[in-house]
Order: sequence, then structure tokens, then C-alpha cells
Amino acid sequence: MAELERIVGAAHVRRGVLAGDAAVPGVRAASPGRTTAAEAAEVVAWCYANDVAIVPAGGRSGLAGGAAVLDAAHVALSLDRLDAIRSFEPGLWRMQAEAGVTTATIARRARESGLCFPPDPGAPQQSRLGGTIATNAGGPHAFKYGVTGDWVTGIEAVLAPGELVTFGGAVRKDVAGYDLRALLIGSEGTLGIVTAAWLRLVPAPEAQLPVVAAYADAAAGCAAILRVLASGVLPAALEFFDEGTLRACGGSFPGGALRGFVVVAEADGSAAEAARVREELREALAPAASAVRSPGSPRALWRWREGVSPAVAAARGAKLSEDIAVPVDRLEEAIAQTVGIGARHGLQACSWGHAGDGNVHASFLLDPAGEADRARAREAAGELFELARRLGGTVTGEHGIGVLKRGQLARQWAPAAVAAQRAVKRALDPKGLLNPGKKEP
Ligand SMILES: Cc1cc2nc3c(=O)[nH]c(=O)nc-3n(C[C@H](O)[C@H](O)[C@H](O)COP(=O)(O)OP(=O)(O)OC[C@H]3O[C@@H](n4cnc5c(N)ncnc54)[C@H](O)[C@@H]3O)c2cc1C
Repeated sequence: MAELERIVGAAHVRRGVLAGDAAVPGVRAASPGRTTAAEAAEVVAWCYANDVAIVPAGGRSGLAGGAAVLDAAHVALSLDRLDAIRSFEPGLWRMQAEAGVTTATIARRARESGLCFPPDPGAPQQSRLGGTIATNAGGPHAFKYGVTGDWVTGIEAVLAPGELVTFGGAVRKDVAGYDLRALLIGSEGTLGIVTAAWLRLVPAPEAQLPVVAAYADAAAGCAAILRVLASGVLPAALEFFDEGTLRACGGSFPGGALRGFVVVAEADGSAAEAARVREELREALAPAASAVRSPGSPRALWRWREGVSPAVAAARGAKLSEDIAVPVDRLEEAIAQTVGIGARHGLQACSWGHAGDGNVHASFLLDPAGEADRARAREAAGELFELARRLGGTVTGEHGIGVLKRGQLARQWAPAAVAAQRAVKRALDPKGLLNPGKKEP
């Protein structure tokens, strides 16, 4: 404790309950200063020398329990005071920001200069750049623009046993060496602590024009999604909401309630290009649709979209939501079978998600007071993971393995692939002190 206080200052070391970790009252939390990533390196060096495990934390918005502290002997290393934008050069479309900067701040700073940082995971006010990189988070616009890692050209990180290193930088192309930058992205704090990153930006699209189409059922809606892909037109986002999700949202769909199965596509680009793409999207979506709408702006839609998850949770008081991803041609099966799995376990189920990426937020509604419901939901989730694997997909397309999906990877990958993953972990964290118990195959 005294040594941690010497490194980051007594005011920035706490011993006590951390939000979300009520079961771990003794945990120590250290938060390195805003001005120096070297403090984070010193904390790691001290922990590594003293065999103390380190749990890095950003905004703690992660949905896989990756930042949860599982043992009172561990040190939670909060990067939130490391929150400087070290450089921003709008004319060069690039920014270097520290791990504690919120995702919303990065997006806002870029937007103020006519630029765009495209990754748009939910909870942008809470999530931090370091956590967003460590989970390689994505959002609705990942379909056209990719996920967080696609916009990171360099990473500064603390590696065991406490060395501050950089991989890549402001350079946009770099094939020297193994791509350790990419290895750290999505590693959920198990290979190193991200202290800063170089980001590339793009000019913000002049216009964003959504198209909303409703269908009688998932089969008709998924056929429309495949028609969009086959048409060769590239939407910025391609989302879906199934019947149960719309029902849970209680007729709140912007512009008037819709029933059945809804597809939302968004065209972007210059005003002329967005208008052309929107027309092509309408053409692809219109056959078999019971309604097609072209709202003038996507703002109300995306605001509604942010409320979908809490609305579904509120339907019965709680939910267990997963984030499986399947090949897009298996989307209909994933959606239909989610409902079937729920029914087999006596639970209402629904799903929504990033249709273009085959990413399904399959959700089981439950009564938070009922332990039986929770047990049934856990069993249903197990079956859902089997389904994802059977369809050629993955147990997580967005949120990561964390602690909640521990053990799932070994069921998804061949033993040799799992051994390769373990060898990487051993090479970069020989003592196994970086976020132990997380992302375990
Ligand atoms: C309402 C809501 C909506 C969401 N929507 C999406 C979505 O659309 N898409 C999506 O992908 N995710 C989504 N998420 C999940 C979550 O927001 C993202 O994973 C987020 O980017 C995590 O950032 P964070 O700073 O909160 O990380 P945390 O929760 O603090 O940490 C997440 C993981 O990263 C590690 N970590 C954190 N900081 C560092 C660091 N500096 N160096 C190394 N490891 C670190 C932690 O140990 C943990 O394993 C959502 C979450 C909520 C609550």
C-alpha cells in the first residue's frame, strides 16, 4: 500500500469497495496521474515484482465482467486520470489520446473539426479509449467502418514486468515485426496495459440518411438483408429488431409503432451520394416489406436504439443478453432459434443487433428476484453458445470473453489453436498476473 502511494500519491490509492465489486471489500485501487504513463509502468513493475495481480479498468462499462476484481489481493489499476489528448492534427486526420479519455470525448473532438472517429459502441460517455481498445469494441457503424482496432495505428502500453513500450505510431502503414499492436487490441487487459493510442480519423460524412423497413417475420426481414448485400450497395449501418424486441419497446419506434421484424439501414457520404445510396437501399428493402420509411435524419432512430437494451430489460425486470455472431446467411436461424431456446427453458426471448455483421444480441427475459429464472437463463445461454458454434459463428462478436464466458473458447477452437493462445499469454505475462481469470480459453 505504502509503495503504491509513493508511486501515484496517497490520494489516488484506495482500499475499499469498488463500484460493481461489492463482494471484494479489501481491494486496492491505484490510479496513475494524468501526466505520466510512467506511473502506470511503475505500478505494474511493483505488482509484478511482488506477485500481485493487476486488473486494469477503464469506464467499467464492459459487459463480460473483464474489469471485475475477483480477489481482494488484486490491485485494480484505474486508467481514468490518464485523460489527455496528447495531440490532435485535424489536417492530418490523426489524434494521439491517453487511455482514460472517454469514447464520447474523442468523437466530439473529431466532429468539432469536421472529422469522424467511426467506432460507436454504446455507453460512449462512460467507456474509455483504453477499455474500448482492450475489448476491440464495435457499434452499428462497424458494418461499413470496422471496429475500434481498425482505427488504431499505434499503441503505447505497459508490458510485464513493467516496461513502457510502443507498437506502431502515427504511421498509417507498418509491417515491420509481428503485429503486436493488433495482439493487444481485444486482449481484455490480459497481455498489457494500454496507456495511449494513435488514432486515424476520416472526414465526417456530409449526410446520413436512414431507411426503415418492416416485415411480417424474421424470414422476410433476413431475406431483405441478404438482398441489400447482393445489390452491392454499401450501407453505413444495417441493423435488425425482431418481433419480441419491438414488443418490449412498447410501440415507441420513432415515427410510429412498427410490428413484425424491422430492418434499419443508413446511407452516408456527400449529400448527393447519401441520397443515391438511400434510394438503392429502398429498392433492395422494399420487396415483401409491409412499410418502408425514409426519415430525414437518423438522430431519433439512434437515440431510440440506445434505449432498446434497457427497454427489453424492463419488460420483466431483468435480462441475460449475449452477443453471439454468425455468418450473415445464418442470421435467420440464429434469430429463430434464440426464441426456440428461450421457449425450451420457459423464458421469453428476443434479439436485435448488427444484421450486416451477423451480430445478434440474443436476450432472455427474466424476473430478477427469481433464482430459478436466472438458472434457466444461464442454461439457455449455454445452448445459445452451442448454436453459435454450430452455425459457424462465435460466442462473442463484441463484448469479449471476460469472466462471464470463461471456458467457451476451448469449445470453439481446436486444441492446437487454444494452445497457441495460451503460449501467447505465457510469453507476454509469464507470471500470469495481468487480469488473471479473464479471457481464459
Ligand atoms: C449500455 C451499453 C452499451 C454497450 N454497447 C456496446 C456496443 O455497441 N459494442 C461493444 O462492442 N460494446 C458495447 N458495450 C460494452 C462496453 O461499453 C465496451 O466494451 C467498452 O468500450 C468498454 O470500455 P470501458 O472503458 O468501459 O472498459 P472496462 O469495462 O473498464 O474494461 C473492459 C475490459 O478492458 C480491460 N481494460 C480496460 N482498460 C484497459 C487498459 N487501459 N488497458 C488494458 N486493458 C484495459 C479491462 O480489464 C476489461 O477486461 C456496451 C456497454 C454498455 C453498458
